[in-house]
Amino acid sequence: MAEIVRFAPSPTGNIHIGNARTALINWLTAVKSGGQFILRFDDTDQERSRQEYADGIAADLDWLGIKPNRVEKQSARMATYDEVAEKLKAMGRLYPCYETADELDRKRKRQRARGLPPVYDRAALELTEEQKAGFEAEGRRPHWRFLLDHKTVAWQDGVRGEQSIECDSVSDPVLIREDGTYLYTLPSVIDDIDMGVTMVIRGDDHVTNTAVQIQLFELLSGKAPGFAHHNLLTSATGEGLSKRLGSLSIRTMKDEGYEPLSVAIFAVLIGTSEPVQPLADMQALADLFALDKVSRNASKFDMADLGHLNARILHEKSYAQVSDRLAALGVAGGEEFWLAVRGNIERLPDAKGWWDIVDKGLPEDAVARSEDDSDFYAKALELLPNEPWDGTTWKAWTNAVKSETGRKGKGLFMPLRVALTGRSHGPELAAFLPILGYQKTSDRLS
Ligand code: GLU
Repeated sequence: MAEIVRFAPSPTGNIHIGNARTALINWLTAVKSGGQFILRFDDTDQERSRQEYADGIAADLDWLGIKPNRVEKQSARMATYDEVAEKLKAMGRLYPCYETADELDRKRKRQRARGLPPVYDRAALELTEEQKAGFEAEGRRPHWRFLLDHKTVAWQDGVRGEQSIECDSVSDPVLIREDGTYLYTLPSVIDDIDMGVTMVIRGDDHVTNTAVQIQLFELLSGKAPGFAHHNLLTSATGEGLSKRLGSLSIRTMKDEGYEPLSVAIFAVLIGTSEPVQPLADMQALADLFALDKVSRNASKFDMADLGHLNARILHEKSYAQVSDRLAALGVAGGEEFWLAVRGNIERLPDAKGWWDIVDKGLPEDAVARSEDDSDFYAKALELLPNEPWDGTTWKAWTNAVKSETGRKGKGLFMPLRVALTGRSHGPELAAFLPILGYQKTSDRLS
């Protein structure tokens, strides 16, 4: 079935890898089913929402390869929410409450002391018109609660399987605050109905909201969409992610030179039954992914694994796939250079480091040469073949050095690597040597 899904961030910060996971799982579900993806900004909180964050989120999704079929924002739909709220009031399902936060807090404490669950006691339903008028005269404004049907709400969750919630253990949720602004609960349901959403896919921190929202769906449209609640990601130390964790923001990963496909694969496949693995493209990720592969438990992840995945993905890239970006980084080595270094970099900008070693000279933190190797270097220089050089030059040269000096293995190769690159690890020297050329090689040996 062609699913209509939505990703509904509040534009109050940059998105992190956990938000990207929600967005991507929605996107893959749309792609797999030939459906549609709606990007909906939940910006009813005017204080904290910013256009620049909305723009940033849209740009980050685009970078990840998510192309929304439709973009909406809740702030443009207030009149619709007001209309539905009036309807709910007329039905007696949205009722005014005048308790202050302190009063509610005291109620909950008393309930706990008596061993009762801290569920709202619906005292406001008993208020007479005079009492309400009295509160209004004092300057109190009501907040509005949804009168839940005290029944069991059950649904077949796309990730978690059979779920059910006893609504008599849930407080009637506040849908409208004292200042008249909406909490996300009602606008979200109204939008999902109006936009034809068939499947709500979101983090499992929303599971309890689902019972309330299913009641609203049934009341307002006679039926509810499907639901799937994926597990949440936690940092390596087990903390939940927040928009304030800058290092895990998609923006930072982009700036640090990770491939968007690596970030997408990583964000989706951690915490599933599939290993994190290189894949050709987003379609391949869509083919591999299924909601029922997502684990029900929170999943820790380690950024080092993103580095490893990124390296494996770069290793497969042809020169044509990266040439524009290499040029933008100021890497002028061409295909020969790319093929020589791609196996030794974790992120594309690392290629610049190797290019500088070719072009500018040894790095500032170059590994020091041993004094004891001076005779060896003199001999190696003497035996250096004349150009033209190709992929066979290195072997011919080192064979000659080997038989003249008697050195072999690491004792032969390591001093040459250190002299030519300033590093003890790096690209295959057979490929690197012709890129460096005779002049630079001989300068570095002397
Ligand atoms: N704005 C809500 C959030 O970011 C959306 C939840 C939902 O997808 O229904 O948590």
